[in-house]
Amino acid sequence: MDKEQIDEALELLWVLNEDGHDDLNRFRLSSEDDEVDSLIITLKSEDLIVVTDKSIHLTEKGRMKAKALIRRLRLAERLFSDVFEMREETVIADACKMEHILSEELTDSVCTFLGHPQTCPHGKKIPRGECCKIYKVEIEPVVTRLSEFEVGSKGRITFIVPTKSSRLSKLNSLGISAGSVVRLLQKKPSYVIQIDETTVAIDPDIVKDIFVRKTS
Ligand SMILES: [Zn+2]
Ligand SMILES: [Zn+2]
Repeated sequence: MDKEQIDEALELLWVLNEDGHDDLNRFRLSSEDDEVDSLIITLKSEDLIVVTDKSIHLTEKGRMKAKALIRRLRLAERLFSDVFEMREETVIADACKMEHILSEELTDSVCTFLGHPQTCPHGKKIPRGECCKIYKVEIEPVVTRLSEFEVGSKGRITFIVPTKSSRLSKLNSLGISAGSVVRLLQKKPSYVIQIDETTVAIDPDIVKDIFVRKTS
């Protein structure tokens, strides 16, 4: 069982629970996993679910994990539909790859950037985070496009807009993904950034798709 299968099962259980379902068979039928029975065994052994003859429930541990996943997924959806004005079908497909787009540690920054939205574009509730409780006293972090950075500035990538999926995998192969710390070394004649010890030249088109939060 890989992490992705487990995450998907947890998300499904959260959604079913939202609609008031705890039926084991419904979970089996709704899951798109070919190995749903061994998946259930794994989830049980990891103390993420409790199963009886007819019902399936998340444990407290499972609920916490599912809540964080759903929060990231729905914030990613908001990000796409509000900020990037993408169509709904695209939103769902891209949000599925959110672990490459929106890093776990930066979820609260994105929530703040979006103004702590209550619901996803489909009207489903976004679970609240710590940032939503304290935002009134905090100054919002500034997220900008990497292209607007001054030469020499350093920042952490908050999210990437994958305008073409090929670009996203290309960026990943260069080590450019949500959470990476980058320094902008040069803007002209072409963009050059530094990631760890590596210096990379990137297309101006792609630089526009990278959003960063300035770090000192
Ligand atoms: Zn949604
Ligand atoms: Zn928030």
